[in-house]
Amino acid sequence: MRRVSALLLTFAMGFPFSLFAETPDSLRGFSPSSSKTQRDWENKFRGIPQPNNMREYMRRLSARPHHVGSPYDKENAEWILAKFKEFGLDAHIETFDVLFPTPKVRLVEMIEPTKFTAKLDEPAIATDPTSSQKSEQLPTYNAYSIDGDVTGPLVFVNYGLPKDYEELERLGVSVKGAIVIAKYGNSWRGIKPKVAAEHGAIGCLIYSEPKDDGYFEESVFPEGPMRNAQGVQRGSAMDFPSSNPGDPLTPGVGATKDAKRLDIKNAASITKIPVLPISYGDAQPLLAALKGPVAPESWRGALAITYRVGPGAAKVHMKVQSNWDIKPVNDIVARIPGAVTPDEWIVRGNHHDAWVNGAEDPTSGQVVLLEEARALGELLKQGWKPRRTIIYCAWDGEEPMLLGSTEWVEAHADELRKHAAVYINTDGNDRGFLNLEGSHSLERFMNDVARDIHDPETGLSVWKRRQLAEIHEAKSAEDRSELRQRKDMRMGALGSGTDYTAFVDHLGIAGLNLGFEGETPQGIYHSIYDDFYWYTHFSDTEFVYGRALAQTVGTAVLRMADAEVLPYEFGNLADTVQKYNKELQKLLKDKQEEIKEQNQQLEDGAYKAADDPRKPTVPPKRKDVPPYLNFAPLQNSADTLTRSAERYEKAFAAAQAKVSNEANAALLNDLNNQLIETERALINDAGLPRRSWYKHLLYAPGVYTGYQPKTVPGVREGIEQDRYSEAEQEIVRVSKALQDESAILDKATGILESLK
Ligand SMILES: [Zn+2]
Repeated sequence: MRRVSALLLTFAMGFPFSLFAETPDSLRGFSPSSSKTQRDWENKFRGIPQPNNMREYMRRLSARPHHVGSPYDKENAEWILAKFKEFGLDAHIETFDVLFPTPKVRLVEMIEPTKFTAKLDEPAIATDPTSSQKSEQLPTYNAYSIDGDVTGPLVFVNYGLPKDYEELERLGVSVKGAIVIAKYGNSWRGIKPKVAAEHGAIGCLIYSEPKDDGYFEESVFPEGPMRNAQGVQRGSAMDFPSSNPGDPLTPGVGATKDAKRLDIKNAASITKIPVLPISYGDAQPLLAALKGPVAPESWRGALAITYRVGPGAAKVHMKVQSNWDIKPVNDIVARIPGAVTPDEWIVRGNHHDAWVNGAEDPTSGQVVLLEEARALGELLKQGWKPRRTIIYCAWDGEEPMLLGSTEWVEAHADELRKHAAVYINTDGNDRGFLNLEGSHSLERFMNDVARDIHDPETGLSVWKRRQLAEIHEAKSAEDRSELRQRKDMRMGALGSGTDYTAFVDHLGIAGLNLGFEGETPQGIYHSIYDDFYWYTHFSDTEFVYGRALAQTVGTAVLRMADAEVLPYEFGNLADTVQKYNKELQKLLKDKQEEIKEQNQQLEDGAYKAADDPRKPTVPPKRKDVPPYLNFAPLQNSADTLTRSAERYEKAFAAAQAKVSNEANAALLNDLNNQLIETERALINDAGLPRRSWYKHLLYAPGVYTGYQPKTVPGVREGIEQDRYSEAEQEIVRVSKALQDESAILDKATGILESLK
């Protein structure tokens, strides 16, 4: 699945943290002498990954379609297992049985005013050798669409997000009883049928707009990297943000052979109305037939038509039926036992299943993981012994909706809760800038790692390159000043859409999601054209960013696995919480002012006056002004956390020389156990309102965004969705978690201060 993150994060005022700067030669969490040994191992590691190996792994893994349950998916799993073993690692396959629907009937036709039947087919292209593997390709569809046969007028709904329906209301257009057509993008695709159903629609089409990933940006495939007229984005439409990812029939538990399963009709994550993806070739005649108001300017795309919203003229018939089968997913798990504290685990993963050949998604990430595993095997042969246990996972079933990783996490939840210190994810790789996303207790750590990796095309460190690029692109003097002064670049929060979700959101394990991006325009996502030919013509053609990512992730794995004290840092976490607190207060204030203004304009008759009487619009409804909320508990607990983080950092710096002292072994164990608990303190077992599978109080996928994170989700979504008393209760729950976090930190500080 796609990593969705902008290169540029949003900046707010931050605090420069340079108070306890480390000496540059010493690694965080290592004594000066062990830093030196560690540097030697890391340098050796970074010399091992070879671009040509990655190219050959990709050629092998993407040679045939390999979706869940397909013959080549199984063959790939066995090949990856053999590779892990060849590298000298102890590995096995773990299988779960999951609900995976595949297409049986797919039909989209316009029956009025003219007849048109959508092709729903991506043609083979002569120059692209794997595009002709028809018999093994999954047809274009959205997995977990409910079966249905519906006919209705067509309405264009832009990206199909809640605010688009507000605009439709102003245009006097309802989607009740209609089939909607939405553009792909700007949200998790499953949000589109969900919001459409909430507004009374009976069916949903999602098309790839050429302005977003077609000819508007670059030439189309095979001349260029972008989506051609018949290219279609497959993908899951599961409503996982409101319920849970993973197998829809076994929420919360591993989908083992004899697990208790729900009836399909009771599975909450299956869509409420049928949904199908289409190409812009198939969408154009439908959109061209629409009557009704002209679409707002920001809705219009790059097709040579006047974009109208409908309804009128165009009437559409769509039919979807799936084979609702249980299919195996095969996770490959390799383990390197820790030599000192085997009960502390560093977990690393990337998925291996694809929608079709999947060279970019996910193979470009999977080959990086394999080359890291080979390099770790080499180090073991040279005598390196990791302090902690390292677990490498090649997940199956990520594309349908994180099936392999979620079921594994649910099946091993008790052990993972006790032992896992971090989960490091990748999901594909391209050329460009290192994208950093993760738990903010790892922000300092990841910045430090990025400072040690060279960008293959500019020679700068990947940290410096991105920092300068962000300064160059920054929108304000404030942002530039923060970028120059803050010790670390800010790390984006984790939303969802890839395999870290169960680790972070369900169990509260600190997570990272990494990859290079930003210089590969692409329109082949989830199509038959995401293949070896495309990747080796248009993306990281020399696999040098593949090597850079293997060096980045491998360095992170080695450093987390070997540090005497787990290298979390909490000043940046506290700073981030302070920033969220300010954002939330501003969100409420802005909303109050906006609604006051809107109500005033309604009273003044401004909407009516501004209207063209020949094209009148419907004024918005009057709304209650949101009440003031008590943010004091959040402010207080954020301040407490800031002070605890400062004390911890001071003790941490003072203890650095002592952490190699054998006499401290037992204390170090206690300390690291406390530190593993810090991310757990940020979850609440009762979960988020109406979606109890999601337990992290700082990070979650948005109920109406899906990929993109909502930070402090209970409070933020409470304000956004007009549930103010709930938001106030959530403030209290978050504050309590932050207090617990501070208490754990204070305990850790006490241990650091007692080291000999
Ligand atoms: Zn993926």
